[in-house]
Amino acid sequence: MSEVLRTDVLVIGAGPAGLSAALTAARAGAAVLVADALPSAGGQIWRGATAQSPGEAGAVLKALATEPRVEVLAGASVRWTEPDRTVVLSTSQGLRRVKAGAIILATGATERYMPFPGWTLPGVVGAGGLQALTKSGLDVTGQRVVVAGTGPLLLAVAQSLRQKGARVLGVAEQAPWRSLVRMGAHAATQPGKGVQAARMMLGLLGVPVWPDTYPIHATGTERVEAVTLRRGGRDTTLPCDWLAVGFGLVPEVRVARMLGCAVAGGAVQVDASQRTSVTGVYAAGEVTGIGGADQARFEGLIAGLSAVGQSPPHGHAAEAARHAAFAALLDSAFALRDEVRALPAADTVVCRCEDVTHGELRRKAHWEEAKLHTRCGMGACQGRTCAPITAALYGWSPPAPRPPLLPTPLEDLMS
Ligand SMILES: Cc1cc2nc3c(=O)[nH]c(=O)nc-3n(C[C@H](O)[C@H](O)[C@H](O)COP(=O)(O)OP(=O)(O)OC[C@H]3O[C@@H](n4cnc5c(N)ncnc54)[C@H](O)[C@@H]3O)c2cc1C
Repeated sequence: MSEVLRTDVLVIGAGPAGLSAALTAARAGAAVLVADALPSAGGQIWRGATAQSPGEAGAVLKALATEPRVEVLAGASVRWTEPDRTVVLSTSQGLRRVKAGAIILATGATERYMPFPGWTLPGVVGAGGLQALTKSGLDVTGQRVVVAGTGPLLLAVAQSLRQKGARVLGVAEQAPWRSLVRMGAHAATQPGKGVQAARMMLGLLGVPVWPDTYPIHATGTERVEAVTLRRGGRDTTLPCDWLAVGFGLVPEVRVARMLGCAVAGGAVQVDASQRTSVTGVYAAGEVTGIGGADQARFEGLIAGLSAVGQSPPHGHAAEAARHAAFAALLDSAFALRDEVRALPAADTVVCRCEDVTHGELRRKAHWEEAKLHTRCGMGACQGRTCAPITAALYGWSPPAPRPPLLPTPLEDLMS
């Protein structure tokens, strides 16, 4: 690994934010390297899209393919960072060390799961995870799916599963009616969002959406066979083949924390130019807070300009304020209710890599004590799944991750 790749701008994450940043910086004359852990560019929302795809995804990927100053390194995930904006990536050719003039973090967000009895049964999956599996070829034709949790992603997932032929029995949304009505009314006044929402509702015609509703347990022997949902005081049990759950998104801040960037409320802190607290490191998209793909693209544009020393365009402050207002509304409308935090029983597993239960964890004072005494967060996911859960259940905040971010082959480390 002695050879060091050099680039003007290294963008980590090839979703809407990262691609917008990369194209902007390249068009301003910079040499840009984009690294993403996924096998192709697009991020979560454009996963599986190509330059031939219709709409925005196709247009952005086409622009990327024809921009000579941008090189995309797919299947390259960050393992650790070093001083002077140097990042070590794991690639199919082993570890690669990249030194950049500027770094733009566009690592997006991950789904948050909340544990409840039965959530570890096969067939209970992340909502976005099931969507990603079907985009990669999993056949769900005719299968009964219940979607449950919170946030607009549930509707997007239900719509896309339906398009893939699944029988979506309903969407259980823990947020109350009034929050959904408030969100809908706000979206209708926002450019593009009203049309997007209307299109989604059209794709969901005939699929019931149950507000104020959450899963209390899933049952089955080999895999999930039914889910019981609670609404008000009433419980309803629905037989199903899949239970797709997601309780909102949390910013994926682990690379940012390794680089030493300030994080507050779970998101990377940036100024109006998308600068983080570390010189030469910028951040854009959902790593700075959950606001949707339009905000991600807008922030990417600003970060791309800032990374090459240019100023934001005219009207940028008003646009940023509009996006921030939408993000704040999302945050409050889909806040977790106390009943959802109270779902796990003493024997419900919280850290699924190391089989650590709620009963063992709730007696611990903080993340470090839990880790030392129970191995919580020490498995293959390195806390990626259980850290956001323990933050929601017990208010814990884990320290900055230690290298490597993910298990790394010894062979690569030795080279
Ligand atoms: C599972 C999931 C499914 C979603 N589905 C939808 C949907 O159907 N419709 C919708 O409107 N919104 C959806 N969203 C929300 C949507 O993804 C965001 O609004 C939008 O994509 C944010 O763009 P972004 O560029 O900030 O992040 P993303 O699009 O999430 O891109 C971040 C990229 O960073 C990469 N990355 C992260 N960490 C590393 C690392 N250590 N090393 C290398 N690469 C890394 C990831 O592989 C990813 O490609 C989904 C979100 C998730 C988490």
